[in-house]
Amino acid sequence: MSSHEAVIVGTGFGGMGAAIQLKRLGIDDFVMLEREDDLGGTWHVNRYPGLAVDIASVTYSYSFEPNPWWSHWYARGPELKKYADHVATTYDLRGHMRFGQVVEGARWDEDARQWEVQVAGAEPVRATYLVTATGFLSQPRLPDIEGVDDFAGTVVHSAKWDPAVDLGGKRVAIIGTGATAVQLIPELAKQAGHLTVLQRTPIWVTPKLDRAMPKRVQRMFAKAPFTQRWARRVNTSVLELIMVAGVLHYRRAKVFNRGAERIAKRHLRRQVADPELRRKLTPDYSFGCKRPTFSNDYFRTFTEPDVDLETTSIARITPTGISLEDGRDIDVDVLVLATGFDMWDANFPAISIVGRDGKDLGRWWRSTRFQAYQGIAVPGFPNLLSLASPYSYSGLSFFTTIEAQMKHIDRLLTEVRRRDARTFEVTDPANEEFLGWVTERLGDSVFALGSCATARSYYFNQHGEAALLRPTSTINTHREAERFPLDDYSYV
Ligand code: NAP
Repeated sequence: MSSHEAVIVGTGFGGMGAAIQLKRLGIDDFVMLEREDDLGGTWHVNRYPGLAVDIASVTYSYSFEPNPWWSHWYARGPELKKYADHVATTYDLRGHMRFGQVVEGARWDEDARQWEVQVAGAEPVRATYLVTATGFLSQPRLPDIEGVDDFAGTVVHSAKWDPAVDLGGKRVAIIGTGATAVQLIPELAKQAGHLTVLQRTPIWVTPKLDRAMPKRVQRMFAKAPFTQRWARRVNTSVLELIMVAGVLHYRRAKVFNRGAERIAKRHLRRQVADPELRRKLTPDYSFGCKRPTFSNDYFRTFTEPDVDLETTSIARITPTGISLEDGRDIDVDVLVLATGFDMWDANFPAISIVGRDGKDLGRWWRSTRFQAYQGIAVPGFPNLLSLASPYSYSGLSFFTTIEAQMKHIDRLLTEVRRRDARTFEVTDPANEEFLGWVTERLGDSVFALGSCATARSYYFNQHGEAALLRPTSTINTHREAERFPLDDYSYV
């Protein structure tokens, strides 16, 4: 059985960020276990037509590894995969990665003070530190619709896109109108003979200020990196305004939230003249209850002659198509499921994690409350850095979260070494205080005070709590990562 200082589960941007941080701390004895056949996480797995980032690339990238050569302000999927490859090479991470390794679980061995990580069909791996970087949106969800397995045509989930699927001239139906569908629908419409969009809940969509990155701007970013840092700062501030003012400080700053709703409604009016179609596409829940989306061609697509928006509920899926609750049938050749990911049942945590005294993380979260100190550590789980945890996601760009977690790891492991300790574990009081603090702050947010009942948002868990996003500014998140009291952990 191999034994290492650390095991990182996942080779997406979260896992790579943690690996870079370990290297900065001088820890080189670690392996990165990845269930897929290549690195990049989301950006390796997702390949659907139209895939792009919807946070500007100057912000959606590591601040310490800027890429001046983005082809667009919002990079397309393959370009992000290339960026992930570049980061892995630049920071010498590839040698640590093992692909096709499905981690089934991890168990804390109190005697050895190590984690034992079980890998399907392989020897377990032992490590002093366990870092789970399994992402938030990594377990695709199939819709709980009767007959979904009976469909005789082609079925494809957006997260398991098969480029060989031929859409040309076909009768295509797509279930779902989340952020993925907002990108997919305009592309499907270009290829399909006829497209039916089955919408259960409409989504807020605002314009996307996207265009090709002019060559002279690329050259300027390359020659004078401070200009790109400045662009990042401006863009991050806008995102911060949306998130902090519009969502988290809803009690005092409703005006920003309403402003965002007005922008989205004006965007819809500009693209769709038919008032009935507009009504169907207009959400009845507050902006921010669900992750808002950005697109310049989503609404317009519904005005095309071969595209139908269907809002009647689905009764069942049949071998030939979809039966609706009102008795109508839609004949379908290709069924696209843009039905998202299972976060609260399958992803928190994504693998079985058993800590001290047999404490099972998933069972504990479900039977008490979803919680993690600073969104990264849990009492009863020594030497575990759980990156995809409740209350960890800060701001709108995932990189804000990753880089704050890197700072947390830096401070914590530096202290572990200073004390010449073998284990760290967050204390119960520190964890409870953090949970109380985020709970109180959420009371001011759109999740508590807005009208979210009809949003069906994955921000909310099965207990009705919005336990995904950290309800603070990203400035606060980073400050806390650099200054949290070191005595919030016990060290042995
Ligand atoms: P999602 O937001 O969870 O949307 C899933 C969609 O499927 C919803 O419209 C949902 O309807 C529908 N659905 C699920 N089960 C259904 C059922 N049984 N019957 C009818 N409709 C059903 O998933 P997603 O669109 O894949 O997006 C997930 C997240 O990925 C986004 O919020 C975003 O964070 C991320 N993302 C990011 C980008 C980017 O560019 N950065 C792009 C794509 C995705 P209800 O709303 O009624 O449940």
